Amino acid sequence: MTQPRTYVDHAASTPMLPSAADAWQRASRHVGNPSSLHGSGRAARRIVEESRESIADDLGMRPSEVIFTAGGTEADNLAIKGLAWAAPDRPRIVCSPIEHRAVLDPVEWLGEQGRPITWLGVDAVGRVSVDDVIAHLDVDVALCTVMWANNEVGTIQPIAEIAAACADAGVPFHTDAVQALGQLPVDAGRRGITSLALSGHKIGAPVGVGVLVLDRDARVVPVLHGGGQERDVRSGTVDAASSAAMAVAVRHAVTEHQAHAERIAGLRDALAAGIVGRVPGAVLNSTAEVSLPGHVHASFPGCEGDALLMLLDASGVECSTGSACTSGVPEPSHVLLAMGVDPALARGSLRFSLGRTSTPDDVERILDVLPRAVERASRAGSPTFRTVS
Ligand code: PLP
Repeated sequence: MTQPRTYVDHAASTPMLPSAADAWQRASRHVGNPSSLHGSGRAARRIVEESRESIADDLGMRPSEVIFTAGGTEADNLAIKGLAWAAPDRPRIVCSPIEHRAVLDPVEWLGEQGRPITWLGVDAVGRVSVDDVIAHLDVDVALCTVMWANNEVGTIQPIAEIAAACADAGVPFHTDAVQALGQLPVDAGRRGITSLALSGHKIGAPVGVGVLVLDRDARVVPVLHGGGQERDVRSGTVDAASSAAMAVAVRHAVTEHQAHAERIAGLRDALAAGIVGRVPGAVLNSTAEVSLPGHVHASFPGCEGDALLMLLDASGVECSTGSACTSGVPEPSHVLLAMGVDPALARGSLRFSLGRTSTPDDVERILDVLPRAVERASRAGSPTFRTVS
């Protein structure tokens, strides 16, 4: 008999919505390249443009402000490099230290090319201070970037205030909303937001599609040079089938997020309370008041997160850790370190991210197996994986 699986890694990737899969299948029957002038090309083009209009409508943007990409990483890279390169006379980049690697790595890479980087601070729950942002918006700043909600601990940032501060200072502002869409209202057209990154596979569209929302007045230098598609921001043939699935997933995220958030927040509260109540010494790093409704992030003193993860996996529970291990030695999560969590404690951390398919039975199953796994992991530990996305 196959073991039942309890999938609580929706922040890494969530199952496709049946309606998005249907849209993908219908659209994939078309063979044309959306840039071709013949009938098949025009049919593919119609799918892309209708998808673009639908997403623009749902996000309160103009269709020309929706740029299809191959995912969240690409959307972040196009915005960060593109906006920075478009402002050679303003070299500085202001960035939060708790960003996903899809933001941190291009920012650090630009730093290696000679750009000065200002790292913002965060408090013990991972929140950026708006005053800190304002204090750093000098005339030499090309770009400020702060994610809408964090992928590890789920902390939601004061995006409206940060965006307004950037608008007042005349500084372009990029936000990675990959984790936010579907769990929060995402007002992409809010004053001060220059660009915003979205990823399909976090909201029920396929892997390999994303959106960069880019203000119509924003100037970016393209990363990819080629056919000039997508306002010449992202050259390359647009994947019509994935754009159709993305439109369905965005519609679902925007219309259903409130009911979804209420449902999974209930599960989140039960899971968080159960972890603290049943696992001696467990410390929560996510906070219901400031975190995404689907995130529970906890540290288990004396454990290695990767060993714990493998023990849970063997019991049918699929979650992720906060450790990045590239050399056999686990590195504690940069997010937890920025929040001031002790490195040893940070290494013994797990993220449980709830989603559309999560049920009260999932919570019970996790709470059934976790105490024993923690007990065993505190005596073991040989980390080998990088598991946060
Ligand atoms: N940004 C955040 C906050 C994420 O969580 C992820 C994925 O884990 C990405 C960006 C990258 O998205 P994609 O997998 O579509 O490249």
